[in-house]
Amino acid sequence: MNSQELFEESKKIIPGGVSSPVRAFKPYPFFVAKGEGSHIYDVDGNSYVDHCLAYGPLILGHADKTVVSDLTNQLTMGTAYGAPTENEIKLSREVINRIPSAEMVRFTNSGTEATMSAIRIARGFTKRDKIVKFEGAYHGAHDYCLVKGGSGAACLPDSLGIPLDTTKNTLTVPFNDEEALTELIEKEGENIACIIMEVVMGNIGCVEPKDGYLEFLRKITEENGIVLIFDEVITGFRLATGGAQEYYGVTPDMTTLGKIVGGGLPMGAFCGKKEIMELVAPNGPVYQAGTFSGNPISVQAGLSTLKQLNNDFYTSLNKKGEFLRSNICDIVDELSLDISPVGLGSMFQIYFNPNEVTNYAEAQESDSERFLVYFRQLLKEGVFIPPSQFECNFISSAHKMEDLEKTVNAIRKSLKVAFEL
Ligand SMILES: *Cc1c(COP(=O)(O)O)cnc(C)c1O
Repeated sequence: MNSQELFEESKKIIPGGVSSPVRAFKPYPFFVAKGEGSHIYDVDGNSYVDHCLAYGPLILGHADKTVVSDLTNQLTMGTAYGAPTENEIKLSREVINRIPSAEMVRFTNSGTEATMSAIRIARGFTKRDKIVKFEGAYHGAHDYCLVKGGSGAACLPDSLGIPLDTTKNTLTVPFNDEEALTELIEKEGENIACIIMEVVMGNIGCVEPKDGYLEFLRKITEENGIVLIFDEVITGFRLATGGAQEYYGVTPDMTTLGKIVGGGLPMGAFCGKKEIMELVAPNGPVYQAGTFSGNPISVQAGLSTLKQLNNDFYTSLNKKGEFLRSNICDIVDELSLDISPVGLGSMFQIYFNPNEVTNYAEAQESDSERFLVYFRQLLKEGVFIPPSQFECNFISSAHKMEDLEKTVNAIRKSLKVAFEL
């Protein structure tokens, strides 16, 4: 069967034909045959330079040789034990040695579980109920965080099936707005357990914190006894060995990880100061658990991946990012387009928006219809990015210069088509 036929079949028995909503796009998503290095192959015989990279985890590209061989070895020794292993200690050490805020680590099965647990622990630690998140930030699909916010919608759940009672303690403010947060904290400060944030907002595209904003957040949370949680599920091990907190030089109290930490397998983690992490069961009174947490397969993939991520690795990876971004800027100039390329490190995106995007409301003003024309043309040119400008595009170490040159040419062609030039 080809992708179109598979999608028809899939839709009958899987809601929307996909296992996670973002994967569905019109007229139908391609179905994958395999991934290899910088490329993903569909069942219709097409290959694409992959800049979606499973939405972030695949920093080494698909099926990295070392990871595959270590995993193959581990598979023969079992896939789940319900008992601890030495590799969990090794991986925890790798995390603690890299992430500045990490003194202790607990592994989970996804980023969603990591943020859900970190929030519970922050609440247990402070004995406060309210949490603050930023408008448009994504912290996984659990009830407390499915609140997008936006004008007048603060605290309203972003999905049916979430009781108002669950989200009434979730407060939202615009990102990069010191005044809005200062006001909120003046009013609610002593009830706020934590501020959870994406340091770089990767789920509305790619929005960086303004100069001084992270320092402001660090100071105001410290002054008010609020736990600062950096959700580094995307940026952890993506922007630098120590993630965004190393990149920007601001250390939170807790950090949530996912995506890259599992080396391409399902895994998340939360980590932080010892005095906070000691509260987690069975040490302390905050319950957190998982049958597959710390399973030997994900842990092995994480270990085999993190070992490859040293400073030289990031220097070389980020150079590829600079190459791509500077070429995109040149194309935008050359075609005299009024759109906004963004990105840093190995992350990039283009907002179809004439103005700089610094928060969710501004991102929302971008031209989504035209972006989809661009997306579809990129597919035709053999380049795969997420089907939305409210996602981030990535580069892996498996991307070679010839891949990136192909991407640059595809972007030029696709922008011309999208803007009818
Ligand atoms: C992807 C993501 C999550 C959720 O992780 P899952 O593994 O999909 O549950 C949480 N936070 C951020 C910032 C993410 O990008």
